[in-house]
Amino acid sequence: MSGHAPEPASSALLQALPQQLWLLDASLQPSLASPSLLDFLGLSLHELQTLGWRQIIHPLDRLEFDLRWQQALLCGRFEMDYRLRDAEGRYRWQLALAQALPSQAGQPLRLLGTHTDISARKEAEARLREADELWKLALESVGDGVWDWYIQEDVEIYSARILQMYGFAESEIKPSPSELDARTHPEDRAQMELDRAAHFAGQVPIYSNEHRVLCKDGSWKWIHSRGMVISRDAQGRPLRMVGTHTDITQRKQAEALIWHQAHFDALTGLPNRRTLRDRLELLLMAAEREGGRLALLFIDLDHFKEVNDTLGHDMGDALLLQAAERIRACVRPQETVARMGGDEFTVVLSDLTDSAEAEAVAQKIILAMAAAFHLHEERVFVSASIGISVFPDDGRQIEELFKHADQALYVAKGAGRNRLGHFTPDLQQAALLRMRLSNDLREALPQGQLSLEYQAIVAMGSRVICKAEALLRWTHPSRGRIGPDLFIPLAESSGLIIEIGEWVFQQAARQVLDWRQRLHPGLQISINKSPVQFRHQQGQADHDQWVATAQELGLADGALAIEITEGLLLEGDSEVNRQLETLRQGGFLVSLDDFGTGFSSLSYLHQYAIDLLKIDQRFVRNLRPGTKDLALCKAIITMAHELGLQVVAEGVETQEQYELLRSAGCDYGQGYLFARPLPVEAFEQLLRQGKA
Ligand code: C2E
Ligand code: MG
Ligand code: MG
Repeated sequence: MSGHAPEPASSALLQALPQQLWLLDASLQPSLASPSLLDFLGLSLHELQTLGWRQIIHPLDRLEFDLRWQQALLCGRFEMDYRLRDAEGRYRWQLALAQALPSQAGQPLRLLGTHTDISARKEAEARLREADELWKLALESVGDGVWDWYIQEDVEIYSARILQMYGFAESEIKPSPSELDARTHPEDRAQMELDRAAHFAGQVPIYSNEHRVLCKDGSWKWIHSRGMVISRDAQGRPLRMVGTHTDITQRKQAEALIWHQAHFDALTGLPNRRTLRDRLELLLMAAEREGGRLALLFIDLDHFKEVNDTLGHDMGDALLLQAAERIRACVRPQETVARMGGDEFTVVLSDLTDSAEAEAVAQKIILAMAAAFHLHEERVFVSASIGISVFPDDGRQIEELFKHADQALYVAKGAGRNRLGHFTPDLQQAALLRMRLSNDLREALPQGQLSLEYQAIVAMGSRVICKAEALLRWTHPSRGRIGPDLFIPLAESSGLIIEIGEWVFQQAARQVLDWRQRLHPGLQISINKSPVQFRHQQGQADHDQWVATAQELGLADGALAIEITEGLLLEGDSEVNRQLETLRQGGFLVSLDDFGTGFSSLSYLHQYAIDLLKIDQRFVRNLRPGTKDLALCKAIITMAHELGLQVVAEGVETQEQYELLRSAGCDYGQGYLFARPLPVEAFEQLLRQGKA
């Protein structure tokens, strides 16, 4: 036997030590082993010496032991967890620590060591590892990726699923938290860090954050990251945190879509009514605060409905798209252009210096809209009417500004469309009046408040009265005379125009019959007919009825003419044309009123059943030698004649106008120069003279 026997004193010490103590020389020969160690092993020192130290170590730990022992011989320190075989042949985990004894020259190196039983800790660790694997597996199996972050070590382990989620192979991502942090969307970083800090600080029990991660292929994925700190140090600092990534890209896309649909118009992509209100509210608050000025422009496309009805919704949509682009192009990029639905758009102009600025923009839009729209093969004309209200001049609240812009728009439309109206306090009065009048109008017919006046239409050369236009008058019981420009639109919007129009026809038909029989055999009377009368359901039946009446009364030889407006033709509706044909075949003449104010061009008039064309007063008003209006009148007359139409000039007030029109070859004239619209008796007197 080699080695040194323990001295008596130290031998007693050894006996008392609960810890296993041992002394090994460089060649692993144990020269000393405490009784507790020998007990544990179930060996005597001699048996241990015979067996050899390596033999009591678990075979799987022997290789590592050899390596560590070699190191220990160099550095004089040994440390290792290994399994030792006990007296029953079971292995137990021991923490082995040893230190080289100070050696004198020539003495061989010896290490004095201890064993501490760490089986309990090792088992717990194993269980933990197993549990780790289990929950990781569970999380991964529902499609989530798992991360496991050792915070102090700056190590983060990513599961295969998480890497696959972003398109990476395991070798392409380092196990470091900075890898995914660097791939987090810059806009989402700050919130993510806040959420993380809140959890680290213990303010929220579970970390939860939604952010975007850049995938290998350059695309972004929306993910929901959830996690929890599972161990902290004595100071409460987080040591380890585990969590998951759930791919929520689809949900986010759906949410974004729904949000977009709720806030933007699907066709044009412009903000919708709701978004406009939101923005306007903010802008008004800012304007209120900074004393700014702001304008609201209500834009309505004139004749859009006609395009939609005749060319179809696809074309209507195409038109709206182009209109939206044109409006956008008229304003600065930061201004809001919204689509309110249908053919209504709204523009908010902020930072105005004065309201003239808003009007300039409105004019620009009107001009942009007047240009032809090219829809596939078709060229279509619409125009825009615009109502403006200005903060703070016309109101401070949203509702007020909306209402006033609406009223201004109404006035713009009423004034013949393709123009802009500006809100004035009078407009509010006017709106109120319209509402009251509209109610009163229901009583007008049954109460006998309506009547017709007749205005002579003379042959241009001789001033002989050939025709007359029947013009409707309303004498309101308390307000007196109300002009047709005011009440006809009310009758149209309430539908009363059908009933009233029928009455006008019956009146005029009986009147022309009477005058023809008594005073003027060739007299012709024209009545104005609203587009609403053509469009309403019984339009065709009404016209059949009119034809029948005219025939019964013997008036089917051109005694009656119908005046229609260009708007009606713009519909390009075959139904309208059919109704016009019915009337013509029944002996009515068709006259196109107010020519030149709408957008019909002479070149397509031949498509319609028209006999007469009335040049609008606006062109006549400014007639002077050498004017553009004169050139225009001449052109209209020449073209009309070529198309086989006769021409009536409206609103002839002066001798000069009369002469210019006569020399331009105009067939008929109507206007104050010849006669004002007159009640039946007065017109009868004029008719007796024969000339005007
Ligand atoms: P309109 O068909 O263009 O009628 C001509 C208008 O010009 C009439 O206005 C007439 O009084 C006016 N006028 C005639 N000569 C002159 C002139 O020399 N100078 C000026 N400044 N004006 C002149 P009124 O009677 O106020 O009628 C306005 C409009 O109301 C008519 O325009 C027509 O569109 C509509 N209207 C009138 N009666 C009826 C009706 O029975 N049914 C329908 N649907 N509309 C009607
Ligand atoms: Mg007329
Ligand atoms: Mg007219």
